[in-house]
Amino acid sequence: MPGESRAGYRHRRAGETTADHDKIVDLTFALHRSRFIGRLRAAIERKMTPVAVIPFPNRKVSKTIAKKELGLLEEAYPHAVTALTYRNPFELLVAVILSAQCTDARVNLTTPALFAAYPTPKALAAARSSDVERLIQSCGFFRTKAKNIIAAARALVETHAGRVPEAREDLEALPGVGRKTASVVLSVAFGEAAFAVDTHVFRVAHRLGLTVGTTPLAVERDVTALLPESQWRFAHHWLILHGRAICKAQRPLCDRCPVQQICPSAPIVAKMRAGRANPGAAGAEARRRSRAPAKASKG
Ligand code: SF4
Repeated sequence: MPGESRAGYRHRRAGETTADHDKIVDLTFALHRSRFIGRLRAAIERKMTPVAVIPFPNRKVSKTIAKKELGLLEEAYPHAVTALTYRNPFELLVAVILSAQCTDARVNLTTPALFAAYPTPKALAAARSSDVERLIQSCGFFRTKAKNIIAAARALVETHAGRVPEAREDLEALPGVGRKTASVVLSVAFGEAAFAVDTHVFRVAHRLGLTVGTTPLAVERDVTALLPESQWRFAHHWLILHGRAICKAQRPLCDRCPVQQICPSAPIVAKMRAGRANPGAAGAEARRRSRAPAKASKG
């Protein structure tokens, strides 16, 4: 009979017909299922609850303050270099393409096997997509990235004699290479004055009030205008490292930040934290009050 074999529901009570028993079994399972689905829904909703976004100050600080902020970051990150592991411009180019939507640490775990299998642009240009995909699949968007690095390698072989070009326009003409990737390759591999704007740089520059630009190019223009060209390639690393270690997207560690005293976002973060703390306190107080009359009636 249906339900008779289900563990834990095998025993019929005295006087219970088989049909009754089956009905009870089915209802019990339906109840378990609905509770499970309810808990699942709650968990999904909890996960999907949007984290409060910390608004940017949306105003520029004075040039004096901006330069002071950058000076403090320079002091905090004096030996800033890229976290990507590479041995030549070709490997750096590939690593930067792979780093889109992926951490540098993950890229560094991925590239040794990739470069062992395809050590030169010529070797990568002749690779099969599926083989490359298998090697880089732990990086996000690995199918697109595999297609791009193979196509970029082909372009290097066909147009640049297997070498990574040193001109921005040539770099940006390669598949999978935009302004940010070109800037990283120019500044890191060739020591050129270039300032790449990624998500960390964009966020930290806004929080510090160095810019109100809404595009990476606008942010690049605002920040580079504050610095001599010789510092552009280092400033990129100061902001990235600061964004990763201290000025995190959702929980900036203002208490540990060397620019806290002059950062226009520090009061915004403090206010939001205070706002988040109060609803909890208010809730606890409300719960205490709601229990109070019940206790009083006992007496
Ligand atoms: S004070 Fe806070 S918001 Fe400002 S840069 Fe430092 S961590 Fe970021």
